[in-house]
Amino acid sequence: MLKLARYLKYFKKEVIIGPFFKLLEAIFELIVPLVMASIIDNGIKNRDSAYVLQRGGIILLLGIMGLVFALICQYCAARASQGFGTMVRNDLYAHINSFSHAELDLFGTDTLINVLTNDINQMQLAVAMLIRLVVRVPFLIIGAIVMSMILDLKLSVIFLIVAPMVSAVLYLIMKKSVPYYRVRQKMLDKVSLITRENLSGARVIRAFSKQDHETERFKKANDDVAEIAINVGKISAFLNPATFAILNIAILAILWFGGIRVDEGSLTQGEVVAFTNYMTQISLALVVFANLVVIFTKAAASAGRINKVFETSCTLIEKESGILNVQTGSPGDNGYTDKPLVSFDNVSFSYPGTDKYALEDISFDIKAGEVTGIIGGTGSGKSTLVNLLPRFYDVTKGVIRINGIPIEDYPINKLRDMFGIVPQKAVLFSGSIIDNIRYYKEDATTDEIKRALEIAQARDFVERLPQGYDTLINQGGRNLSGGQRQRITIARALVRNPKILILDDSF
Ligand code: ADP
Repeated sequence: MLKLARYLKYFKKEVIIGPFFKLLEAIFELIVPLVMASIIDNGIKNRDSAYVLQRGGIILLLGIMGLVFALICQYCAARASQGFGTMVRNDLYAHINSFSHAELDLFGTDTLINVLTNDINQMQLAVAMLIRLVVRVPFLIIGAIVMSMILDLKLSVIFLIVAPMVSAVLYLIMKKSVPYYRVRQKMLDKVSLITRENLSGARVIRAFSKQDHETERFKKANDDVAEIAINVGKISAFLNPATFAILNIAILAILWFGGIRVDEGSLTQGEVVAFTNYMTQISLALVVFANLVVIFTKAAASAGRINKVFETSCTLIEKESGILNVQTGSPGDNGYTDKPLVSFDNVSFSYPGTDKYALEDISFDIKAGEVTGIIGGTGSGKSTLVNLLPRFYDVTKGVIRINGIPIEDYPINKLRDMFGIVPQKAVLFSGSIIDNIRYYKEDATTDEIKRALEIAQARDFVERLPQGYDTLINQGGRNLSGGQRQRITIARALVRNPKILILDDSF
């Protein structure tokens, strides 16, 4: 969690001003019982209504000022926490975008989405609480004890007995419940995985009439989360009765021993009331403290997951010298040299985390202008082979060369610019058809787009659509047929007139 604290340096003002005003509010809160005591001892005792009104006015003023200070603190907390969340989210998103497929496979989409949403939200809440309560709560607890000691040292012994007792109860309850919060997050990940699978695969589920089975699977995952929540709830349910029982016993003790002290003449009635007020303040602060522990425990787990993503760096290394290599040594734009355009030299590859080769000892050359078909059964490694070319994954052994230069020597952007890729799964983005085709080449002219659509045999159907090229594509391209989607992805790859066109299963 401390590692993420670096983002707070952008919100220094809020982090200082917020707790400062909250502290002022806490000071006012500690003064109120004293004013109350003076109302009881002087105003009520002497039936002096002017005094009661005047002191009542002070309490009202303290209340209003407290409210204003609390609002200032709240404003700072909101600014800092939302700003913090936005910055972490932006940085994390940029970091995830730098990942190669290997790192994306390692985490999985669902975990990354959860980290970007849930975990960062959890951290945001922790930052808000840090500003609002972390200074205030201990200050109130210590302040109330000190104030009661000033009022009457002997009677304040009750506080010194009660505070550790309440703390012990809190500790025991936290110790039992905190581990559940960690498990709960894992289960929530599972629920979101199933939800995503179910919603994105709704058509398949219906086609196979598996709704009941899926509903059952979702219910089970959901029940698991509910069970954990109920277990936590059962333990936490003890919190309030236990603390309030101790609190009420303590108030009884204050009234009992306070009464004796009043009879002795060493304490006033008002001061006894102030004592009970302080006792209530301490107990409430301790309960808030317990909630803080829960929030920070969850945040620590979230911070761990966020940091894990941050600490994972892209395994694709871009060689500094490679940029020079390519600039000075690359062939002319036509790409025709005596060297093969693409050459695989004893290439082997195994996916990270597996020791089985998906490709083993592959060597072949492709000359510019040639069309090469790779045929093999499912799972034989065709997609794997083409994924190695733009360095979606790095080879385990051997070398891949383009124009005689090892692909590692190209800057990644330059390397990928050479390709037009039509992936196996036709992925389109929300926007119009023309936006999607311009995805690879933002300045593509209408003629270039028409030509690409023509080659992809998509022009006819696009032009027949009521809105033609401007037809909006629904999320994931669901308003187009599978074949239409694939043709658009082919046009998208062609529009840039790439040196190397890869058609993965879409030929
Ligand atoms: P093809 O395209 O020929 O159908 P692939 O290249 O997709 O086959 O897969 C080749 C092998 O690599 C398969 O055994 C598959 O299980 C495995 N594989 C594919 N993608 C991954 C991945 N991301 N992580 C681990 N193994 C994978």
